Amino acid sequence: MPNSALGLALNALRRKFPDKSDDWIKRVLARLKDVEERRRGEGGASSDGADFYIVKGRPDLGDKQPIYHVWWSQEERRWYCTCYLTGWGQKRAKEICTHAAAVMLYRQYKGMVDGLEDKRVYVASAVVECPSKPGANGEVYAAPFPGKTLTEYAQPRWRVVAISASPVVEIYCGKRPVLKIPGEEMDYAAAKVLAEEAIHS
Ligand SMILES: [Zn+2]
Repeated sequence: MPNSALGLALNALRRKFPDKSDDWIKRVLARLKDVEERRRGEGGASSDGADFYIVKGRPDLGDKQPIYHVWWSQEERRWYCTCYLTGWGQKRAKEICTHAAAVMLYRQYKGMVDGLEDKRVYVASAVVECPSKPGANGEVYAAPFPGKTLTEYAQPRWRVVAISASPVVEIYCGKRPVLKIPGEEMDYAAAKVLAEEAIHS
């Protein structure tokens, strides 16, 4: 299961950076085991995760420093890396370096593996007709499903992925139940990635 969680985490990274090459993804993956979480202070730090991350430098990947610091800037809503502060940094800072990408992969992967331990959910997907966005007995991901004929255009359809705590997933159009289907059991983090993937494909 951890391997499939890693596969899903990698897919999520690919989706986030569709223009990056396979080689770039490979370099990010190579750095995954070099990522460590760090807290700024004893006790004073927030309990909901790391304050910053350390990524070990790898000479074989062109690194000049033994370690790099990666942190999230809440003001600018983006990841920063200490490699942005060096010679070639300006160029890298415009996009994202593989240190910061490795931290993103690490967080995604860790979220999935942790999710395995505590929260099991049931996932179902379907295409339903409904004038407005459908609901479900759980979390709903929905996107308009393009029709092929005039009649289909007249009846708006939705691709729906529902994540439910119940093994039987119910999908609603307004208050009216339109579908009851057995969900596929999986951990919550993996379910979210699958749902986003299904909706954006
Ligand atoms: Zn970097």
